[in-house]
Amino acid sequence: DAAINRIAAGEVVERPASAVKELVENALDAGANRIDIAIADGGKTLIRVADDGCGIRADQLPLALSRHATSKIDGSDLLDIHSFGFRGEALPSLGAVGRLTITSRVSGQDAAQIAVSGGQMGPVKPAALTGGTVVELRDLFFATPARLKFLRTDRAEMQAISDTIKRLAMAEPFVGFTLRDVSGGGEGRVTFRADPETGDLFDALHGRLARVLGAEFAENALKINAEREGFLLTGYAALPTYSRGSAIAQYLFVNGRPVRDKLLVGALRGAFHDFLSRDRHPAAALFVECDPHLVDVNVHPAKSEVRFRDPGVVRGLIVSALRHALADAGH
Ligand code: ADP
Ligand code: MG
Repeated sequence: DAAINRIAAGEVVERPASAVKELVENALDAGANRIDIAIADGGKTLIRVADDGCGIRADQLPLALSRHATSKIDGSDLLDIHSFGFRGEALPSLGAVGRLTITSRVSGQDAAQIAVSGGQMGPVKPAALTGGTVVELRDLFFATPARLKFLRTDRAEMQAISDTIKRLAMAEPFVGFTLRDVSGGGEGRVTFRADPETGDLFDALHGRLARVLGAEFAENALKINAEREGFLLTGYAALPTYSRGSAIAQYLFVNGRPVRDKLLVGALRGAFHDFLSRDRHPAAALFVECDPHLVDVNVHPAKSEVRFRDPGVVRGLIVSALRHALADAGH
């Protein structure tokens, strides 16, 4: 029901960047190798995500837009944070608060399209598309004007979108990403581009971090690869000699998804204590892999928060891995 959808959607879709995150995660879940994101007016008038993933069958399109009907998680998997989204709520929510059009083509079948606007779903129609899926979201929050007032400037919303894309790009180095600002119409301006990386996971990650965090980070980055009590830690970290203006580049990923946790800030500070200065911060992109039962995701899914059951073990693992990497590098 449209009214209920709008209320629920207002809680899960906070701003254009949260819509972008859901759509890009869907593209990743669909096995995409390339994802193109086009944004107009900070995402307020247009968000378009095109992928070359598996596509959605024509007869499944209405289902994809129905609340809870399509969740990739069944009850037994609620702890599996590989499926980090709204659990079957993203597309229905976006269709409730904006004008959503999905065009998709499964290999060997004809392309089809469905539109939903302010919660009102249209029929499935034939469409033209060579493959994959294009999701277009126009006029976000047109159906909930109160929400519009909370949005920041186009520039600030675009910055948040860009940060979201860069986090996802770090987590998926074998996938190619482009972000374009199409505010002026036409092909627009490419504001971020990362081609698919090759090689083993560390090669690929190193290449991707050079792309996202800059060559200076990549040159100074220490390789991290450690394990403790069921937690696997990999990634790269650079000493505070690396300074990227005033921006603090400290990224943590848990089971492949970007998360925000102060634990990383503290661990970096602890490990690099002797090297810290006021205007220089350590930079890092670290990946924790663990059994999903060792993390709590019962926090708001849209906020990308996790809570480790035993944060002390993870903090200890990070600190000791960073210290070892420093020692190996001769510090
Ligand atoms: P969830 O991702 O939690 O299942 P969503 O509302 O985000 O819920 O998506 C609903 C369903 O639509 C997905 O389960 C998937 O089957 C399908 N879907 C959405 N986006 C894509 C895409 N880009 N490619 C292929 N299938 C998709
Ligand atoms: Mg989803």
